[in-house]
Amino acid sequence: MIDSVHLEDVSCPLGCPKNDEFVLSGRDLLHDLPGTFTIVKCRTCGLMRTNPRPTQETIGFYYPDDYGPYLGTRVQQTGPKQTSGIKKLLKPVVKRLFNFNTEALPPLSPGRLLEVGCASGAFLHRMAGQGWQVEGIEFSDKAALAATRLGYYVHAGPLETAPEPRQPFDLIVGWMVLEHLHDPIGGLQKLCEWAKPGACLALSVPNAGSLEFRLFKEKLYALHLPNHLYHFTPETLRQVLEAGGWALENIHHQRLLSNLLASTGYVLRDRGYTRLGQKLIDFPKRAGKWHFALYPLAWLLSAFGQTGRMTIWARKQA
Ligand SMILES: [Zn+2]
Repeated sequence: MIDSVHLEDVSCPLGCPKNDEFVLSGRDLLHDLPGTFTIVKCRTCGLMRTNPRPTQETIGFYYPDDYGPYLGTRVQQTGPKQTSGIKKLLKPVVKRLFNFNTEALPPLSPGRLLEVGCASGAFLHRMAGQGWQVEGIEFSDKAALAATRLGYYVHAGPLETAPEPRQPFDLIVGWMVLEHLHDPIGGLQKLCEWAKPGACLALSVPNAGSLEFRLFKEKLYALHLPNHLYHFTPETLRQVLEAGGWALENIHHQRLLSNLLASTGYVLRDRGYTRLGQKLIDFPKRAGKWHFALYPLAWLLSAFGQTGRMTIWARKQA
């Protein structure tokens, strides 16, 4: 099967002369699909990329239908959830005390919102409930269909083929999506054209400048080879955003340690501790209350910019 996955060699998208250094090589740990992939770093600008990489036509092989993010965002349509009185009272307190920064949003009043990589539509659904007019773009037909069934306009296909919207957007978000794009700068430019003057962009990406990345290397849970084609640090992300027409304004380091535990799980599984390793690998899916218990340590690491993921806000450049 791997013989049919065509790979391409690409140069640094920031237009630097070809001068790369080897960073690491690794495989698909999420689905155990075949192939070994290399991450290189451009010596001129520091941007890391997976190279060579599957082409736009062949990458679908690495997105099986059970690809985690497609499943995790399904909205359960079981009617309004009943919340007890005490839980209702505690909710704002908990929200104030624990800010995980995962889907941090700039303080804007509701307007037109586009989510790139909206998966099955859970975030769109939540934002629509807060008064936003929402639209989505989703690479997976199956996930896009689930989001469309919720009643939202969703373009099924890659960002590259999405048609121009009828009206520009006030806010564009992409949770863990930029690192999947074959042409992140072209994608950002396209989004910039679709944004109102002064519009905001909120993105989350793994932080390849973090302690987690340096510590775990090819065993890093958030590495997702070969699905992740780019591996940003705060500085290289700023350069890519600028080339795409956006000015980086804020970086929020996420306050979650589930990735760190899952990476530890990969290491343990490799050393023969299969059951314990698998338990830790599954941790991000089941963490629940543990996110709260680990919050103080996650907060501390995030204060130094060392957790595995970051959420950024950028503004359309004048
Ligand atoms: Zn470069």
